[in-house]
Amino acid sequence: MDLEFAQSINIKKDISSFLNDYREKLSQLFSQRNDEDEMLATRGLPPYVLREVLECNPLSTFIPSEYSGRGGHTSEALSMLETTSYQSLPLSLMMGINGALFLQPIANYAHEEVMENVFSRFLVKKNMGGLMITEPDYGSDALRMQTGFIHDDSNKVYKIDGLKHWAGLTGWADFWLITARGADKDGELGRDIGFFVHDSSNGGIEVLEYYKNLGLYMLPYGRNKVNIEVPENYRLQPKTTGVTMMLDILHRSRLQFPGMSTGHLNRMLDEALDHCKQRMVGGMSLFNYDQVKERLARLQSYFTVSSAMSYFTSMNVPLDHNTARMDVAANSIKSVVTDYMHEASQSLMQLVGAKGYRLDHIAGRAMVDSRPFQIFEGSNDILYQQISESVLKMMRKGKENNLYNFLKNYSLTENAAEYFKDNLDFEIDYKLPQRKLVQLGQAIGRMVSMNMTMKLGETGFNSDMVANSLKVIREEIQQCISSYTYNESPMMIEEYGDDSSWLRYVKD
Ligand SMILES: Cc1cc2nc3c(=O)[nH]c(=O)nc-3n(C[C@H](O)[C@H](O)[C@H](O)COP(=O)(O)OP(=O)(O)OC[C@H]3O[C@@H](n4cnc5c(N)ncnc54)[C@H](O)[C@@H]3O)c2cc1C
Repeated sequence: MDLEFAQSINIKKDISSFLNDYREKLSQLFSQRNDEDEMLATRGLPPYVLREVLECNPLSTFIPSEYSGRGGHTSEALSMLETTSYQSLPLSLMMGINGALFLQPIANYAHEEVMENVFSRFLVKKNMGGLMITEPDYGSDALRMQTGFIHDDSNKVYKIDGLKHWAGLTGWADFWLITARGADKDGELGRDIGFFVHDSSNGGIEVLEYYKNLGLYMLPYGRNKVNIEVPENYRLQPKTTGVTMMLDILHRSRLQFPGMSTGHLNRMLDEALDHCKQRMVGGMSLFNYDQVKERLARLQSYFTVSSAMSYFTSMNVPLDHNTARMDVAANSIKSVVTDYMHEASQSLMQLVGAKGYRLDHIAGRAMVDSRPFQIFEGSNDILYQQISESVLKMMRKGKENNLYNFLKNYSLTENAAEYFKDNLDFEIDYKLPQRKLVQLGQAIGRMVSMNMTMKLGETGFNSDMVANSLKVIREEIQQCISSYTYNESPMMIEEYGDDSSWLRYVKD
């Protein structure tokens, strides 16, 4: 197949028929031609399944139209991810990695020659790409990574050396985006981060070990020795610094998590509804129990809030918009929606009962598959802290000490803040301990999400669902604020051995 053909099949379909055909293909591959339960419990993916998925050109939604893609429209990419994750969360993560962590950085920062090569290889040869940032000793503190690069002027290449692990698509990806710090002649590493596009067929990446990942069986992970040479043009060109480029890449990716979460949450909701309507307990349908209805309402609320986030990102984050300064929106969306993904999976598991506690049941799989979303691309504990820090910084800069006054004038919380006037009308303490910053961040992240949901409510989206989800999220925010204002700070007792055995105190 040549590029012109790839172009013709992409351009002729409008987005709805593109998604319908894609949905139909996924359903055939995952439910009709294969046993879905069996696929859930098996590592990897049969090669023909991956081939047929990629033949629908889902990744063309991330590729600009000048290079024969569908144009890189955010709403198209998010709806493709949503369609994928309704069928399979791991497959959606695979698409998300290719799109947000590889193709979009290329589209925004790569040399013309690299774009032509990479985009045509994706469209015609169905290639895939991933991103290597994390190292065994440097995860959350990635800026201190030890992988270094030097520039070899005579051969016009960069030489990169280091150890990376946990990169999605380990051993599979045709291309890698590799991050490294510049090394001087004494081997001292500089502060800035460089991004290099490596073609795996050039060699130099050795998989030292494949990990037995707890979930996401479809995706291979492991530890890689990196010792590569990359042509000069294959280094991404930051507009300012490499660290700012990294922020843009990571924020854009976090802002697009709702693509993956909305489909997953929709599936959790539908599975729960189906199960509860069919299952009879104590002579009546599970669906009629009040506590079950509470769980279902919560699931539906998660789906609604995630949809509101997709709407926000689609409307506010075109591909060419630099997101380096969108920290509050990106960190709120990522942390809140991944908490919802895992909470929804746990809730489905509770409702399904023992049947869900099987390696090959969607409830059990969803529980372990959704869990790492709270860890990768910024651990949620850290992101919540960062949300508070960003808000406190803006308050200090604007000389505003009253939290309510700030939030009611802040574009991401202006509509939601009103509901919490009584709880937030206090002077902020700028020297908060970390745990308080996290609790405050949980409240603010949910207020940002509530604001987005209110905005979705103005569009004509199902108003009952919006109204219900606002009730659920308001309750959550109240709980977060009360943890924040609760003044006990339990400490860990390090030497707890001697008198902590209850049996010693049992009297005959
Ligand atoms: C399924 C999966 C997929 C991944 N995909 C990729 C990928 O494609 N590419 C890639 O480069 N990496 C990937 N990663 C790696 C991921 O980004 C890292 O695991 C993550 O950044 C955390 O690093 P760490 O595991 O070293 O944990 P650590 O940095 O050791 O942190 C562990 C925990 O310690 C706590 N913690 C850490 N720092 C602080 C702090 N300052 N304050 C308070 N608490 C703190 C948090 O609870 C945190 O979750 C993936 C990981 C997983 C599990």
